[in-house]
Amino acid sequence: MTECRILVFLGAPGAGKGTQTTRLVREFQMKHLSTGEALRQKAGEDTLLGNQARETMERGELVSDDLVAEVVREYMTDFRNSTGFILDGFPRNLAQAELLEEIAGKTPIWVINIRVDEEVVINRLSGRRQCTECGRISNVNFSPPRQEDVCDACGAKLVQRPDDLPDVIQRRLQVYREQTKPLADFYTKKGCYFEVDGNQNADTVFKRISAHLTGEESSAESPNLSADQSVA
Ligand SMILES: [Zn+2]
Repeated sequence: MTECRILVFLGAPGAGKGTQTTRLVREFQMKHLSTGEALRQKAGEDTLLGNQARETMERGELVSDDLVAEVVREYMTDFRNSTGFILDGFPRNLAQAELLEEIAGKTPIWVINIRVDEEVVINRLSGRRQCTECGRISNVNFSPPRQEDVCDACGAKLVQRPDDLPDVIQRRLQVYREQTKPLADFYTKKGCYFEVDGNQNADTVFKRISAHLTGEESSAESPNLSADQSVA
């Protein structure tokens, strides 16, 4: 994995990690590893790791840091010739961050935090409506359906998911802040932490991230955010 790098994406729900990941995968040919998905896939395999994952999930318990790390390690070994990995959902805590250091070895870790103001996140997420039939997502704040509460694609009813209700969003943000602060500190000390202003449109955010990854940014362009308002 000498030529490769590991990108850890931090960002609150609604910060736009999914959009940026899709573009990075396309334009930088990086592999996207969602640990949640990888664990579910492993749980379907009849291997030592797969059986452990399945039994833990069947008991309804949280998968241990070591087990998640093992899944990440296997994935990176399977795709060792890749130009890089985007980690999503890992590390979630300092113990996992330490495990990632071991897994990475000499492969550099890059951490990018997409910072967004709370009100922007709430505006983005609380406007989301999902079609009960085809699953399509529209947003009453950004791309309202032609007819209220009706899916443009299939004409079925649009509903708000419980996860996107304002008080639930507030709780998700709270959990996110508590989880992320120690990681941001850890990676800041290591000197591999970068913040990008996620309040801007997705194209601008992507340009900043690309410039960071290719080393084309100037320090004058670094985002300067007020820490009190942002979800860090
Ligand atoms: Zn639909």
